[in-house]
Amino acid sequence: MVTAVPPTIDALHDELSHLDDPTYTPEVCGEMTALIAEINVLKRERDAVILAHNYQRPEIFHVADFIGDSLELAREATKVSAGTIVFCGVHFMAETAKILNPKKTVLLPDLRAGCSLADSVTGESLEERKTELRALYPDLQVMCYVNTTADVKAASDVCCTSSNAVTIARALPTDHILFVPDQNLAAYVQKETGKTVIAWDGNCYVHHQIRPEQLRAVKERLPHVEILAHPECRADVLALADQVLSTSGMIRHARESAATEFLVVTECGLSDRLLLELPGKRFFRACKLCQYMKMITLEGTRDALLFRRHEIVLAEDVRQGAARALERMLEFA
Ligand code: SF4
Repeated sequence: MVTAVPPTIDALHDELSHLDDPTYTPEVCGEMTALIAEINVLKRERDAVILAHNYQRPEIFHVADFIGDSLELAREATKVSAGTIVFCGVHFMAETAKILNPKKTVLLPDLRAGCSLADSVTGESLEERKTELRALYPDLQVMCYVNTTADVKAASDVCCTSSNAVTIARALPTDHILFVPDQNLAAYVQKETGKTVIAWDGNCYVHHQIRPEQLRAVKERLPHVEILAHPECRADVLALADQVLSTSGMIRHARESAATEFLVVTECGLSDRLLLELPGKRFFRACKLCQYMKMITLEGTRDALLFRRHEIVLAEDVRQGAARALERMLEFA
């Protein structure tokens, strides 16, 4: 989907019509085509690259230089040679790019693109809980999900993403882990590793609202579909899944699997990407929209480049602390 040449109106409309979304009319696709061309020119003029998360709107994929999940984007951010990174994702992801690229300008097209999960823990509350628990378990290590602010990462021993959380928990030289902030991913890590994982009381509102009844209803009608679920879902949902995978793990699996029909249990943007990239396979959705991810638009991305808006700035001590947790993750992963 990453393309250097802007699509024609007909090609974009033809592509987006596969999504069965009535908002993508020929007129709307015409406006988008003009914006995509404008953004591509601005990227060259401003020495910028665009990194986009898998949950973004499909039209954003047309201006992205790289599309991926949190781990892939964190890795890609370390390789960028351009002076400016425009991050089409949410705030903590743009912060992660800045943590790993202190000399580069990192822009987030819309400051309202936050994350309810990242907002459920602060650096200060984590320091308090860590002190309490270390009195009980002196070997306690703090693992933070990448969906956290920079000050929470700085207060943690190691960071993780959904694709490497189990690997990192296994590799940590301790049996006691405080996992922040996603309680569902914490439960999954505990189940997979057998370690004592103390969960923070947070969850992703998008994944947490998906219920097992929804999966059972689809499975009754379509017993042959393979169910792919994200580990931010509740344990009773994961228990019904054939595969528990990160978003990029789902893409790889769907591409390589002999199966041709899948139920995709995560944010809806991933289903859009799968439908567009693998037209020979069928994807049913048990997905929900993330209001934060969808705040990023082509207009906002154009304006971020045009007006150098909204720059991510971090205190250097916080950046260095967060970088340690991220670098440790990249070493383990
Ligand atoms: S999908 Fe959930 S975890 Fe991801 S940005 Fe939205 S609220 Fe945060």
